[in-house]
Amino acid sequence: MLSPFDLLCLAREAGVSTSEAIGRFTIRRGSILKFRDDGACVALDGVRCGVHRGRPLACRLYPLGIERYRAGGDDDRFVTLEAAVGSLGVYGDRGTVDDFLDAQDVGAHLYANGCYAGSSSDLSRTIAATADFDRIVPREFWRCAVREALAESGYDANPLIDATFDLDGFGCARVSDADAVAAHVGVLSEMIRRESHPDILAAAAVMLAVSLGYSPGEVIAD
Ligand code: SF4
Repeated sequence: MLSPFDLLCLAREAGVSTSEAIGRFTIRRGSILKFRDDGACVALDGVRCGVHRGRPLACRLYPLGIERYRAGGDDDRFVTLEAAVGSLGVYGDRGTVDDFLDAQDVGAHLYANGCYAGSSSDLSRTIAATADFDRIVPREFWRCAVREALAESGYDANPLIDATFDLDGFGCARVSDADAVAAHVGVLSEMIRRESHPDILAAAAVMLAVSLGYSPGEVIAD
């Protein structure tokens, strides 16, 4: 999974716009790293990562992953993933999890993802204000939202999802990473405030949450 900040980092390391990075490196509207038919990541250059300094959070964390919770109030947890074929799958040979996270320079990613949590809250509030759950069956409403967000083709146009990953297309080019995130969160907040279609908001809420590492069920339970 890719977060909005992952897209920014990929684009800047590759020297392209976020729009170009979405086309070159991702599927599902920017939310998943693209792999070739032989199973290799499209960013792989020989045996090396072609975007190493801009590699996504998931790549930095491997062989760890994050289990994220927001509905139950539990803390996020780092978990050890099953080792991929050809990988030793070890992280602790040079110290603790914190040492590993420092070595992988994940701080900016975790900070940026925390900023986007505010956009998730904006989406939840606006959905509550626009969806008439006296007339809409919540279970069906969220089922459609999850299907829309997770579809790899045949999905409806959604300007909020487009804006979630194409930071440069919304005024974030040529500023520092931190300023880009701050500006982008502001743009998203304004777009969410102006959006009146609950189905568009809900699909965007699922997409953003999943891109930040939450399960769709966490959004629905929010
Ligand atoms: S670390 Fe590997 S999977 Fe991640 S972007 Fe680089 S080549 Fe792709």
